[in-house]
Amino acid sequence: MAYAASDPRVVLRRVRELVEPRPDLAERYEAAKQTIRVFRKPAFYEVTQRCNLKCEGCYYFESGLKEITERQAVEEWETFFAKETERQVSMAYFVGAEPALHQERLMAAAGHFQYGNVGTNGTIKIDAAVPFRISISMWAGDEETDRKMRGAAAYKKAFRNYRGDPRAIVYYTLSRWNLDGARTIAELCRDNGLPLTFNLYSPTVTYLAKLSHGDANDDQFFRVSRPDDTPMLSGEDLKHAERTVLDLMEDFPETVLYSKNYNAWSTREEPLHPVDANGIAPDCGSRITPLMHYYGADLERKEIKCCTPDLDCSQCRIMSGGWSTKLAPRPEDLADAEAFSGWLEMMESLRRIFVFDFAARQAKAPMHAADTIAAQ
Ligand code: SF4
Ligand code: SF4
Repeated sequence: MAYAASDPRVVLRRVRELVEPRPDLAERYEAAKQTIRVFRKPAFYEVTQRCNLKCEGCYYFESGLKEITERQAVEEWETFFAKETERQVSMAYFVGAEPALHQERLMAAAGHFQYGNVGTNGTIKIDAAVPFRISISMWAGDEETDRKMRGAAAYKKAFRNYRGDPRAIVYYTLSRWNLDGARTIAELCRDNGLPLTFNLYSPTVTYLAKLSHGDANDDQFFRVSRPDDTPMLSGEDLKHAERTVLDLMEDFPETVLYSKNYNAWSTREEPLHPVDANGIAPDCGSRITPLMHYYGADLERKEIKCCTPDLDCSQCRIMSGGWSTKLAPRPEDLADAEAFSGWLEMMESLRRIFVFDFAARQAKAPMHAADTIAAQ
């Protein structure tokens, strides 16, 4: 059945039509609503403008970054986060450049948010007292590719730092240069007691401009790309990426946290997000809105497009924009009961990937998983 609507009341009516004859879907929908509630008021906190890597096509430094004066006093960060608590932020994202370089700022946020998520490159160990999900980006499964893509063998350090850490999850950013390394990372995640999920390489506007202008390589974030050799995923690569992920989901069911339906959607050849005349994706769930605040390390609010503002919306497949867009069922998710079941499967996976209640876990199992692994 063809179905098209974006009015929340119409969507709700359609959901009711789908779940009423299907108690199994009704139960899963109730659970999905609880998951969605966790994301009802997210906020982004840029912990620092510094980073210790040089990733090819970096989404952060290549956007004509305006240098700010970072607030240094930890008391200022504590006061700031206490105020944010009053705003009832439901999910706090700690981003950077590299947040692990200022862990005292992460600690200042402890106790103020039930759910938090630190995006890190994993090369610096984050103190075990930081009570948030630690999302580690990995870009390669071998040293040569890692040096090429990030300027250092980062993934090995990340495994040493986070072996068995119950907060940590690995995000493998699939690109044309590293699809073959995904299996190695899955094996290492299994052997180090870390869950694995995926991201898709997405180019920035700056990176695309350098390619199209035929700019010379530099020693920063455009070291190795050439117009005919980039990490960007072609249509064929996207099919390869989808198959790679499906195989890993099959072969490492205890390790891989992902969704078959999200995998199919995010690797489709057509763009994930329709764009407006300015090239911006108006419906992307990651757009900074009056409800969703973004703060710099000067603790001032920033009016930017999203948390990765230099990415080109028309080619964006980054997991933050993808998953947050799926938080609301789209017309294709409401076409029939099967499509809706597929959307529920995405919400179930999203919960396992992003929703990490540190305090609840500590109450249940205070022993650090790393100790368990070390004792083996
Ligand atoms: S992509 Fe992230 S880890 Fe890599 S250089 Fe940029 S800020 Fe640092
Ligand atoms: S996350 Fe959304 S708003 Fe940001 S670049 Fe991607 S599509 Fe555009």
